[in-house]
Amino acid sequence: TARMDRILDIDPANRLVRCEPGVVTKRLNDAVAEHGLSYPPDPASWEHCTIGGNIATGAGGICCVKYGVTADYVRGLDLVLADGRRMRTGRDTVKGVAGYDLTRLLVGSEGTLAVIVGATLGLCPVRPPALAMLAQFPTLTAAGDAVASITAAGHVPSALELLDRATSQAVADHGHPMMTPGAAATLIIESDTAEPARDLASMALLCKEAGARNVVTASGAEESRQVIEARRLVTPALGAFAATRPPRPSARGTNHAGGARRIPLR
Ligand SMILES: Cc1cc2nc3c(=O)[nH]c(=O)nc-3n(C[C@H](O)[C@H](O)[C@H](O)COP(=O)(O)OP(=O)(O)OC[C@H]3O[C@@H](n4cnc5c(N)ncnc54)[C@H](O)[C@@H]3O)c2cc1C
Repeated sequence: TARMDRILDIDPANRLVRCEPGVVTKRLNDAVAEHGLSYPPDPASWEHCTIGGNIATGAGGICCVKYGVTADYVRGLDLVLADGRRMRTGRDTVKGVAGYDLTRLLVGSEGTLAVIVGATLGLCPVRPPALAMLAQFPTLTAAGDAVASITAAGHVPSALELLDRATSQAVADHGHPMMTPGAAATLIIESDTAEPARDLASMALLCKEAGARNVVTASGAEESRQVIEARRLVTPALGAFAATRPPRPSARGTNHAGGARRIPLR
């Protein structure tokens, strides 16, 4: 469905967009931004992956810890079933509580139930400007302690990503300028609250108290983009790592939201 790439309707009043499955995720976001809206799910590959692929895999994204995952934004789907029949699921409204939730069943079904040929997606007001930081730790447990402290302190970061030792090393080896070699774990943190600089300073302190050694806090948009780039580099960096250093690393990149109490691994 890659060539079904039309954005059919942007409805600012109802904060909805209707599109075909081949629309690239970033392109959708750029289009709705012109109306003061955003589509929060941002898988690491958002510059290349499609809405259909995001829905079929139930993909998350870097900001899922605050804004949720693709499933939280899919209101309705246009489908073609295996026998060629067309079907529409879902709704255009925010509330939709009656009956079976076939839309939710389809999200993450990886093409096994139907081909998605159209989607109605919920939107949010455009996100406030964000600032980002990264912190590198001598142990995975220390990074977990930092995550637990951050959530216990009431912070709601818009990204909170943990890279393990192999992934941190691969991204450092890939030439990311803020990543130092030899770290056991890296946290990539973004804040888009009303006072992101103040909140990041507080989270940086919590990271240091948990044992972080290399803490880089961005002071502006370009530095923040570089910090987030460390997360987006995970897939290419692990690919390069695997190609040069067999046996293949066991590290995988994914987004988790929640379960912070289990991260310290104690
Ligand atoms: C299970 C899973 C979970 C993932 N979660 C995350 C995540 O949380 N965060 C993150 O950054 N990345 C995640 N990824 C990686 C990446 O985000 C997804 O692979 C990406 O969203 C897929 O989009 P794509 O356009 O590249 O799809 P493709 O790679 O082209 O297709 C992916 C799958 O979706 C099916 N598919 C594609 N289009 C349609 C359609 N129109 N109708 C029906 N099925 C279709 C394909 O058959 C295939 O099974 C995940 C990948 C998988 C497999």
